[in-house]
Amino acid sequence: MKVAKFGGSSLSNATQIQKVASIVQNDKDIKTIVVSAPGKRHDDDVKVTDMLIALHTNKVTGLDTEDALSEILRRYESIIDELSIDRSLLDDFERTLRDYLTAIEDEEALLDALKSRGEDFNARLISTYFQSLGFSAKYVSPEEAGIKVTNTPANARLIPSSYDDINKLKDYPEDVLVIPGFYGISDNGNIVTFARGGSDITGAIIARGIRADLYENYTDESHIYAAHPGIIDEPYQIEEITYREMRELAYAGFGIFHDEALEPLYQEKIPVMIRNTNAPHIEGTKIVPERELDPNIPVIGFSCDEGFTSISLHKYLLNKEVGFTRRILQILEDYHISYEHMPSGIDDISIIMRSNQFENNDSLDKIIGEINLQLEPEWIEVEDDLSMLFIVGLGMARQVGIVSRVTAALAGEKVNIRMMNQGSTEYSMMFAIKTKDHEPSIKALFKEFF
Ligand code: ASP
Repeated sequence: MKVAKFGGSSLSNATQIQKVASIVQNDKDIKTIVVSAPGKRHDDDVKVTDMLIALHTNKVTGLDTEDALSEILRRYESIIDELSIDRSLLDDFERTLRDYLTAIEDEEALLDALKSRGEDFNARLISTYFQSLGFSAKYVSPEEAGIKVTNTPANARLIPSSYDDINKLKDYPEDVLVIPGFYGISDNGNIVTFARGGSDITGAIIARGIRADLYENYTDESHIYAAHPGIIDEPYQIEEITYREMRELAYAGFGIFHDEALEPLYQEKIPVMIRNTNAPHIEGTKIVPERELDPNIPVIGFSCDEGFTSISLHKYLLNKEVGFTRRILQILEDYHISYEHMPSGIDDISIIMRSNQFENNDSLDKIIGEINLQLEPEWIEVEDDLSMLFIVGLGMARQVGIVSRVTAALAGEKVNIRMMNQGSTEYSMMFAIKTKDHEPSIKALFKEFF
């Protein structure tokens, strides 16, 4: 039994949806599909989710919402007409959006409710299309499926007891269930979305809930590559990668699979297959609990994520001061800032955070003020424009000389390493570098290891 998730590029227009129908029709093991909102049809196009966000912006800034609303409906209209399915769906879609715009007053709740409609409308449309082809298909809402989440807008977390309800999906008599991705329902009945790209998370939750044998993630790529294909011309195609390695690479920007989607799968050891809707015969990269290691390929991939800020501070005998780190973290917590990494030395410590948390507010200045006041460091320095470079591979553990190969390759490109970190498991190394060094670093590392 498989769960298949189809991303926005796989559902961006009628032709793509027809491909999805034939994939589902030809594979009787696919019992449940999870769908995204229609994505971009070409480079300059806009994703439906972004159109819904724009609708929300118009509403809350007091601008006219009519144009934005009709543009969204037109996207669905063209798909509905090309697939020759019942146009009355469009009236339902319009009524729903208008109801939300008038009835939901809380801005954050309205944003999540509107954003969720991209996948919800698509799931309704796709199940109607499947029925028109004679499939026994059924639309199942996240509410009916039992996806209960925390009431944390744009950052929903699954309530673990949901898995018992989700398991009941196995008893549905229909051949295919079509479930919208990206959101769940909180205990006060609100629609709450996962982080952006979160339809993968729904897919993983459903796969775990029904204990699927395989979770297939359909996008427009068949493989995960050792490095970003936008930087390296012919990057090495990864055949098999473990959850742990994938987690590290997904964290640092391997866009093909959401890092939060791995956790539910990891718990039940459900393997993931990356598949391409445009080339479904290709068996793509498989994400598995364990893999055989090739000593000649210690590193499986590199990724680099931009947009980080660090606060570094120095204080003599910092190591002897009880509670020093806890007090810094308390200050961050008071300002609702999460940190990503914390490399440290005997007398210094750096805290690395995502820079977007400081956009449009003065919390960074306030945090620095508080640290100076409460912890009295000898010096404190803020650096932005940082990128985190990850070198990942289970094969690196217990192999001598990997760090020296990495640093020599970076030195060859005159990349200054600002900070570094390696966990004791030795399967991932992280280097903080200046963002301008991102591409030269990936190129140099690829050359060295592949
Ligand atoms: N439609 C949502 C987004 O664009 C979720 C997804 O596609 O996975 O973020």
